[in-house]
Amino acid sequence: MKIIAINAGSSSLKFQLLKMPQEEVIASGLVEKIGSEDAGFTIKYNGSKDSKVLNIPNHGVAVKLLLDGLIEHEIIKTIDEIEGVGHRVVQGGEVFNESAELNNVTIAAIESLASLAPLHNKAHVIGMREFKKVLPNVLQLAVFDTTFHQTMEEEAYLYATPYEWYEKYGVRKYGFHGTSHQYVSEEAIKLLDNKKDSKIIVCHIGNGVSITAIRDGKSIDTSMGLTPLEGVPMGTRTGNIDPSVLGLIAEREGKSLEELLDILNKQSGYLGVSGISNDSRDIAKAAHEGNHRAKLAMQLQAKRIADYIGSYYIRLKGLDAIAFTAGIGENSSEVRNLIVDHLEVLNVKLDQKLNTTHGIVGNIASKDSSVKVFVIPTDEEVMIAREVYSRL
Ligand code: AMP
Repeated sequence: MKIIAINAGSSSLKFQLLKMPQEEVIASGLVEKIGSEDAGFTIKYNGSKDSKVLNIPNHGVAVKLLLDGLIEHEIIKTIDEIEGVGHRVVQGGEVFNESAELNNVTIAAIESLASLAPLHNKAHVIGMREFKKVLPNVLQLAVFDTTFHQTMEEEAYLYATPYEWYEKYGVRKYGFHGTSHQYVSEEAIKLLDNKKDSKIIVCHIGNGVSITAIRDGKSIDTSMGLTPLEGVPMGTRTGNIDPSVLGLIAEREGKSLEELLDILNKQSGYLGVSGISNDSRDIAKAAHEGNHRAKLAMQLQAKRIADYIGSYYIRLKGLDAIAFTAGIGENSSEVRNLIVDHLEVLNVKLDQKLNTTHGIVGNIASKDSSVKVFVIPTDEEVMIAREVYSRL
């Protein structure tokens, strides 16, 4: 059976076609710069890759191109072979505490949550409507980044802002990367031989970064908040700061709130501190060449991640494993070292031979470490396909 996982952004559409239940990736790809005359379409299958630059005016054209591409490359014979579609959705608010089948009511509810995630949810809905047009009789599911964190208790998700803000506008912590945290924690629990009441901290460290405390498979706290801006410094995002900074810079530089939020989201983190790049590889290279601000950008992030690990250790009342995932977490032995260096008091220790083995997956802690340290490649698409498969 073939299931397609879709991630629709405002100007992009990523997809992965999987054979289920084998969880085999048959094809994957990306339509980018939708809305422009030099948009791109890339499809990968069977070890080969095909890229084209062409005019893609809207998401409708992008969806058609994608499906035609699958047929043209003989990956499928007709679109009827696709028996399920899973759509990644960033914000499910408090409305969705599980994945939801798409119909007019659920699509409208996802659209109405756009005030909590304006850039993402609107784009997802455009993608969903296009897929509903071409595959009207196939099960289509919305899989939310926030669902996994809906198990947090009030004291973990509520901000100490006026309570009416929560009641009227849904101002609270939702948390993100839920599909990734769920996938990685499930894999970590397997590595712990399905231990009961497991205590795990997942560090999803990519361009976006979030840290989650997971007890017995359930999220009890996470670093991202109302939006993915909260938490630790990321590629271009600040993570937590004193909101008074906004008032000060607004006054000194005459900037609007919108401009300031844009800076906190897009010009801060690694990029803002180093002034060099948002990419961890560029930052590490500059740091090795002696650039102080690049080094600082990495140290600042590692310290703040360790702060979360410390606080979640207390919330979990112990710790079986820390799991590193996403672009940096999976690949950078240096970032893992910087973080673990702060955890001496918890007796977390890495085996340096394992930590520096390229492409390592599994436990990288030393034998005398009190806590296991896992590297687990995340796979949000497989998680989405599993959800769809389980409903068919
Ligand atoms: P993601 O958002 O999960 O795609 O992660 C993007 C980040 O992962 C970027 O900062 C990349 O520099 C980083 N990254 C990807 N591959 C590697 C690698 N082999 N070594 C170090 N960092 C990497």
